[in-house]
Amino acid sequence: MLKPSEAGFRRLLPLLRPHLRQLVLGVLCMLVYVSSFLWLLNLAGALFPALGSRDLGRVLGLIGQGVLIFAVQKLAQFGQDSLLAGPALQVSKTLRSNLFSRLQTVELGALEKLSAGDLTYRLTEDADRVSEVLYKSIHDTLPSVLQLLAVLGYMLWLDWKLTASILLLAPVIIWLISLFGARVMAATERSQKKVSELAGLLGEAIEGLPLVRAFAAEPWLQGRFEEEIDQHRQARHLTYSLVALQHPVVGMIEVVGLFSVLGLAAWRIQNDGLSIAGLSSYLTGLVVLIDPIAHVTNNFNEFQQGQASLRRLRQIEKEPQEAKDPSPALSLGRPQGNLRLQQVNFAYGDGKPVLRDINLAIQAGQVVALVGPSGAGKSTLFSLLLRFNTAQSGEICLDGKNLSQVRARELRQQVALVPQRTTVFSGSVADAIRFGRSISHDQLIEAARLANAHDFIMALPNGYDTQLEERGTNVSGGQLQRIAIARAVLGNPAVLLLDEATSALDAEAEAAVQLGLRQAMQGRTVLVIAHRLATVQEADQIVVLEKGSIREQGSHDQLMASNGRYRELCERQFIRVNAIGSN
Ligand code: ADP
Repeated sequence: MLKPSEAGFRRLLPLLRPHLRQLVLGVLCMLVYVSSFLWLLNLAGALFPALGSRDLGRVLGLIGQGVLIFAVQKLAQFGQDSLLAGPALQVSKTLRSNLFSRLQTVELGALEKLSAGDLTYRLTEDADRVSEVLYKSIHDTLPSVLQLLAVLGYMLWLDWKLTASILLLAPVIIWLISLFGARVMAATERSQKKVSELAGLLGEAIEGLPLVRAFAAEPWLQGRFEEEIDQHRQARHLTYSLVALQHPVVGMIEVVGLFSVLGLAAWRIQNDGLSIAGLSSYLTGLVVLIDPIAHVTNNFNEFQQGQASLRRLRQIEKEPQEAKDPSPALSLGRPQGNLRLQQVNFAYGDGKPVLRDINLAIQAGQVVALVGPSGAGKSTLFSLLLRFNTAQSGEICLDGKNLSQVRARELRQQVALVPQRTTVFSGSVADAIRFGRSISHDQLIEAARLANAHDFIMALPNGYDTQLEERGTNVSGGQLQRIAIARAVLGNPAVLLLDEATSALDAEAEAAVQLGLRQAMQGRTVLVIAHRLATVQEADQIVVLEKGSIREQGSHDQLMASNGRYRELCERQFIRVNAIGSN
C-alpha cells in the first residue's frame, strides 16, 4: 500500500515543466480574472448608493463600467480556461504513457498475477479521473482560492473588525471540509477497487462464457456478478451519502455565517464604523465569496477522489520490474546457436526450486525435445532462455556468451518463441507477422513461405492486408499457428523455441503446420516442448524433465533401450515400441 505522500498530486508537478510558457500565460489571465472582482466590489460601493441619488447619468456611467469589467473578466476567464486545459491534459497523457511503458517492463511473473480487467480500469477510468481533477485544480480551484483570498483581503481592508469576526468561522468550515474529505477519499478508494474487481470478473466471464454455458453455470455466474455489483453499489452509496451530508452541514454553517454578518454589520453601521457605500461593497463581497467557497468544497471532494485514483495508478509502479540490461553489455551479433546450460538452479521468488542442477550442451542446428509431466519446469526453462526470469545460480550461454551479459532486446531477436496458444493483435496479417519490426515486403513473404503460410494468406480476401480479428478468430487454428511460425522466423533467429500445440488439429491442418515447422527449423537450434511423443522421435536429443531435474537424456532409440521413464511415457501414449525397445 502506498503512503498518501507517495501518491500526491505534488509528484505530478515536474510533468508540468515542459508547458511552463502556456501555464504562465494562463496564470496571467487568471490574475486579471481575479482582480476584476476587486474592481467590481469597488464599483458596487459606488453604484448602490448612486441608485438612490436620482443622477441617471452617473448611474449609466457606472453601469457602463460594470459591463466593461464583465467583458474583461469573461475574456480573461476564456484565456485562463483554454490555456490551462492543454498542460493538464498533457500531464495526464504523460502519466498514462509512463505507466504503460512501466507495465511493459513489469516482471512477467508479477504481470500474470495482475487482472487484465483491473489494469484496464486503472489505465482508463482512474487515469481519466486524475486528468479531470488536475484540470479542475488548475483552472477552477486555483482561481477560486485566489478569488477567496483577494476578496477576503479587500473585506479586511474595508472593515477588519467585521471580517475578523467572520473569519472566526473559517476554521470550523475548513475542519468540516477536511473531515468529510478524508472519509470521501477512503470511500472512493473502496468503490474504485470494487469497480476494478468488477472489470476483472467481467474479463474472466466474457472469456469463459462458452464454458459457463456448457456447464449450465449461468445462475452461478449471475449470482457472483450480482454480488460484485451489490458490493460496488454499497461502496458508492457510502460516498454519495457522505457528500449528501456534507452539503447541508456546510450550507447551514454558511447561512449562520451570513446572518451573523448582517447582524454584525448593523452593529458596525450603528457605531459609525461602516458607511453605506462600504456596506454595499462588503455585501457584494460576501455574495462574490459564495461561488468560490462552493467550488473549493466540491473540488476538494473530487480532489480526494482523484487522489484515490492516483494512488491506484501509482501502485502499478510498485510492481517488480524485469532485470535491467547489464552495462556494459556484450554484443551478441548473429550467433551460431550453440547453447550450454551449466548447473542452472531456479525458483520463483522465495518458492521451492523449480529447476535443479540443469546441465545441457546443445550444438548449433540440433533439435532438442523437452518432455515430462506438466509442472516439470519445461516452460520455466524457456522463460530462462528468453531471460523472462534469471537463474539464481549457474550459467546459460549462447555461443559462449552468458545470457545475463547481453541486452534482453538483442537476445530476443536471436531466440524466438512459437507459443502453444498464439495471440495476435487486431490488424492485418502482415502486421501480425511483422509485429512492429520494419522489414521489406520480400522478407515478409520469405518468412511466410518458410512457415508454409504464404499460399493460404494469398487465398484470403485481401491477401497480406486481410484484417485479423482480435485473437485471430477469423482464421483457423492451424493458420494462426503458421502465422506465429512466420512471425518467429522473420528476424532469422539462431534459436527457435517451440511450445508444441496440444490442441487437436485435423490431420490436414496438422500436416501443413508440421511442414511449416520443418522448414522454419532448418539451420537453427530448436528446443521443442513436446506434448505428443510421436513428434519427437527424430530429435537429436530428448531431455526428460521431472520435478525440475533432468531424469533422462539421449536419442529416442537410446532412451527406449534404457527402459526408463521415457519408454514408460511412450508406452502410456501408445507409441509403437520399435525393435530395440521391444526386446
Ligand atoms: P511445465 O511447463 O513443465 O508444465 P512450468 O515450467 O510451467 O512446467 O512449471 C514448473 C513449476 O513452476 C510448477 O510447479 C508451477 O506451478 C511453477 N510456476 C510456473 N510459473 C510460475 C510463476 N509465474 N510463479 C510461481 N510458480 C510458477
